Amino acid sequence: MEEYDDIRQGVRALCAHYDAAYWRGIDEVRGFPEDFVRALTEAGWLGAMIPAEYGGSGLGLSEASVILEEVNRCGGNSGTVHGQMYNLFTLVRHGSQAQKDHFLPRLASGELRLQSMGVTEPTTGTDTTRIKTTAVRRGDRYVVNGQKVWISRVQHSDLMILLARTTPLADVAKKTEGMSIFLVDLRQAIGHGMEVRPIANMVNHETNELFFDNLELPVDSLIGEEGKGFRYILDGLNAERTLIAAECIGDGRWFIERARSYAREREVFGRPIGQNQGVQFPIAEAHIEVEAADLMRWRACREYDGGVHAGASANMAKYLAAKASWEAANVCLQTHGGFGFACEYDVERKFRETRLYQVAPISTNLILSYVAEHLLGLPRSF
Ligand SMILES: Cc1cc2nc3c(=O)[nH]c(=O)nc-3n(C[C@H](O)[C@H](O)[C@H](O)COP(=O)(O)OP(=O)(O)OC[C@H]3O[C@@H](n4cnc5c(N)ncnc54)[C@H](O)[C@@H]3O)c2cc1C
Repeated sequence: MEEYDDIRQGVRALCAHYDAAYWRGIDEVRGFPEDFVRALTEAGWLGAMIPAEYGGSGLGLSEASVILEEVNRCGGNSGTVHGQMYNLFTLVRHGSQAQKDHFLPRLASGELRLQSMGVTEPTTGTDTTRIKTTAVRRGDRYVVNGQKVWISRVQHSDLMILLARTTPLADVAKKTEGMSIFLVDLRQAIGHGMEVRPIANMVNHETNELFFDNLELPVDSLIGEEGKGFRYILDGLNAERTLIAAECIGDGRWFIERARSYAREREVFGRPIGQNQGVQFPIAEAHIEVEAADLMRWRACREYDGGVHAGASANMAKYLAAKASWEAANVCLQTHGGFGFACEYDVERKFRETRLYQVAPISTNLILSYVAEHLLGLPRSF
């Protein structure tokens, strides 16, 4: 029996109502799986990590990772909901008592959604400490100006965590200081200093450019201490990377199962294609890699839940799992031959979806840099 079997069975039962045809239909029209997200929230899965005293189930990253893994393993796309999972970690760990009292019960009930996090900017990309979006304190307000890019699910969220510079880079001792995070109420911000422009993209992933022109935020939107936002974001990113790793494991298992069953059924030259070593070996190899990546995902989950710094494991889990799911996607498509390209087989959709995770939320190269510098003591390359 796999770990957390009760959670797996519960999520699978819900996902059975949102089958391949459902996700294919949403993908075709570039829609948003509103019914699915509502059902996942009402069943309590999206509030799984909200502490019980605020109406959630008080579960950890391990359980959250199983929920997202299962959504992908059932053929769905957790990219539509995972933002809420990792943003919650930031709010629960660093939010004020008043923020937690006000928002957590509403997030647990589904009245509000916290699906978005605005970090990336067009001119600075991965070099986050050079972000140009500023938040300047004026009396009881912060005034935000700048621009973000690739910010996901803004059109389907009520709240967003925003990273902005509150002290100019020139005035801080370390470049990681002087940035702060804010809980932005999107219902008030959009059209009042914040503009949203959708970005058409390869996956059905709702993502946007954001423009801030004197957006006013009440001072109590600040999460934690002013100037410490980068540290809080990094803390949340380890949760995010571990969750993405679990999603990739879910994708990888979906691809391998599809490849396996097609290879057993499809007959060419009078025998199942899976009888050829040229077909079965790549599937076996992909399976080995997904299972190996899963071990690192569990190491990251246990460290995070145990309060141990999970930076190394979270990064390595994300690296291994994103690579393994992409390999499994490639193998699955190849095993299906021409049918891999037919939308009705869902392979091409999942192939596009899982490709994203070598680029976002952190690119593979940046993980390699992290490992080279922080684990192997090699000189920083940038
Ligand atoms: C669909 C989608 C959804 C997203 N959602 C969000 C979101 O909700 N919130 C958010 O804040 N961001 C989001 N992102 C942004 C994502 O996190 C970034 O795209 C990613 O971190 C890479 O940054 P970049 O695109 O600016 O690439 P760049 O930083 O411009 O890098 C381009 C390439 O160069 C490589 N590179 C850059 N510097 C180095 C170096 N020093 N050494 C080696 N290689 C290097 C990178 O690895 C990458 O392959 C999303 C992106 C996508 C595509």
